[in-house]
Amino acid sequence: MAAPAVFFFLTVALLLVIAYVAASDRMTLSLSLSLSSPYFAILTLHPYLVPKNSPEPISFSYSGAKGPNKWGSLSPLSKECSVGKLQSPIDIVKDKVVVNKNLKPLIRKYHPATATLDDNGFNVAVSYKGSAGVMIADGKNYSLVQMHWHSPSEHRINGVRLAAELHLVHKGDDGSITVLGILYHYGHADPVVHKIQKSLKKLAKEASASLTHAHIALGTFDTKQMRRSTHKYYRYDGSFSTPPCTQNVIWHILAKVRSISRGQVEALKAPLNLGCKNNSRPVQPLNGRVVELYDGDQ
Ligand SMILES: [Zn+2]
Repeated sequence: MAAPAVFFFLTVALLLVIAYVAASDRMTLSLSLSLSSPYFAILTLHPYLVPKNSPEPISFSYSGAKGPNKWGSLSPLSKECSVGKLQSPIDIVKDKVVVNKNLKPLIRKYHPATATLDDNGFNVAVSYKGSAGVMIADGKNYSLVQMHWHSPSEHRINGVRLAAELHLVHKGDDGSITVLGILYHYGHADPVVHKIQKSLKKLAKEASASLTHAHIALGTFDTKQMRRSTHKYYRYDGSFSTPPCTQNVIWHILAKVRSISRGQVEALKAPLNLGCKNNSRPVQPLNGRVVELYDGDQ
């Protein structure tokens, strides 16, 4: 009688020890992932696309063992990065784009809203806390939720990569996503980046002083400089250009290239993780996709 009881007790005790070690290991792993990995970025950019109760956020980089050609195997959630056929960014070859006369001008009705400047490790983003207005594309309203920068540019024009690219991420009521991309060449300073330059310095200081990713309140942020006309734009079906590379993202890339100063590009890079200073994914195959052009002159 005593021997089986002792055996049973020891087995339960052993299982408890194993469970405890496994749990604390996982906690350590998740803490080290979220707090102390300066070389790996943590996915915070599109949390509304990651299912609730999903496992660890995907940590990725733009070089090395977690670089773009490994993204598809970093997590079961990021498979599309390698097997998806509608991936972004792409090279926009002007001779191959097709004018679509059914496309309408993009209407942007942005207004001032409370925002924070976030260092996500793999990019710097302005996140809106309240309603920042909408972009109307294909007759549908998409709310502006966030914007972030890449440098050099992710999309190429006729094979040429530009200095930087801004992505304005919009979300429809049905959860659909459209991104407005704006390309920059080096030149005079950009007025939007100018408004956050002091905060970018603060962000860089905090990034070098601590291991956590900093957030700085911007107060009310006005996006009116972004409301310029959209005389000409490219449109195609793509994906997010960061893991999990989710598809069914409609891209609108403005044909008008704006300018940004070298100092501003450096300021946008300063807070980023070492492996993410050049945070642009290589261009992806078109796989038969056609890039459409809206041209107000035609
Ligand atoms: Zn982006």
